[in-house]
Amino acid sequence: PMSSDKLEAFGVHHITKGLGRIKGGIMAKGEGSYVVYEDGQRLLDFTCGIGVTSLGHVNPHVSQAAADQCLKLVHSQCSISLHEPYIRLIERLLPIMPDPSLDSFFFWNSGSEAVEAAIKMARVFTGKQNIICMQGGYHGRTFGAMALTRSKTIYSQGFAPLMPGVFTTSFPYWHQSGFQPSTSTHTLTQQALYQLDLLFSQQTAPSDTAAIIIEPVLGEGGYVPAPPEFLHGLRERCDKHGIMLIVDEVQSGFGRTGNYFAIEESGVRPDILVIAKGLANGFPLSGVISRKEVTDKLKPGSMGGTYAGNAVSCAAAVAVADVFREENILANVQARSTELFSALNALKYDPNLRPHILDVRGRGLMVGVEFASPPPPSSPANMASRVAARCIEKGMLILTTSVYQVIRFIPPLNVSKADLAKGSQIFAEAVREVVK
Ligand code: PMP
Repeated sequence: PMSSDKLEAFGVHHITKGLGRIKGGIMAKGEGSYVVYEDGQRLLDFTCGIGVTSLGHVNPHVSQAAADQCLKLVHSQCSISLHEPYIRLIERLLPIMPDPSLDSFFFWNSGSEAVEAAIKMARVFTGKQNIICMQGGYHGRTFGAMALTRSKTIYSQGFAPLMPGVFTTSFPYWHQSGFQPSTSTHTLTQQALYQLDLLFSQQTAPSDTAAIIIEPVLGEGGYVPAPPEFLHGLRERCDKHGIMLIVDEVQSGFGRTGNYFAIEESGVRPDILVIAKGLANGFPLSGVISRKEVTDKLKPGSMGGTYAGNAVSCAAAVAVADVFREENILANVQARSTELFSALNALKYDPNLRPHILDVRGRGLMVGVEFASPPPPSSPANMASRVAARCIEKGMLILTTSVYQVIRFIPPLNVSKADLAKGSQIFAEAVREVVK
């Protein structure tokens, strides 16, 4: 057998260059908040595979439920017949939906597919075509989802033509309007809503607009929570013009922000909710949820996919929902969130670091730290990636995000107090070393 190094080199040679990577080596095992590499390195994982393994790697309850289902029925193809875990999952999800109107479910594999299904549903229900997305938004890599993605050009560069009929409006984030970091959220919100109203009168008439899609916390675009006032502004305009509000909670959903769904903080009702990632703790599963009135407009057979709503993934997701309840995961998110914010704010207000850390923001355990950009004279360029690289050397996986200088914290939602403190400590040391 090949050595681990040789095996990796063989893989790298034969795997598409289109796949990026933040750390070399072969990940061999997951153990709760840690991952172990073939060469024995054990790293604290504050990425959760980009917000997926929220209940820790190889959560025993989830893996057991999946293993049991594996020995019973792996695949039914839901357009042939339903299977029980699909229906059990709906039973679990129904009571935690952010609005009681959300009562009609459809499961897919990936976030991108679910986003595209949401677009199809909005078009069919409204009889209209255009979609408005947010600057900085990320919705996936398939052609429709890619057309709605506005966080980085790398995701679409060279791949056009994309899905037509997409318009972009500004998200209330100071970078996007040339404001100062200190600009109030109220001002940013008013400005963003003004831009949206202009868009309606200059580019896509409400009578041609099927949907507005938004992440309630901008994910790949920089971990920026949408102000509730902005979400209400969108809801009002959607109500007024018969436009569907699609809320993409692929990254922010399933407990990540301290509520089951980030949109709950605002009390705004989504017309269509998109979920994935943490839903099944690593098994491929996504969902699109709306009200029956909307999905009843779809012709039977018009939606589907070979693997959509796989039985093993659904069984895993049922176990995820049970663990959330039985282990009171949301309470842990809130407690650990307070600790994380206080550690990060201590850095922000440290006089030695102050010019470098612009902002600490987020909700729950979806937290972004933004470094100064453009850098002040003494600040090294590309600080976020240097800090992330330093964290990895020190034993913690962590990701950057956005085209700005942002590090994102996505620790497991059941992370222990000690591991959270350890991660904050590694981060603090990394920042100090990079600034020096
Ligand atoms: N929407 C959001 C908000 C996401 O963060 C992502 C993935 N990062 C997607 C959609 C796409 O999901 P997937 O990668 O499963 O297609």
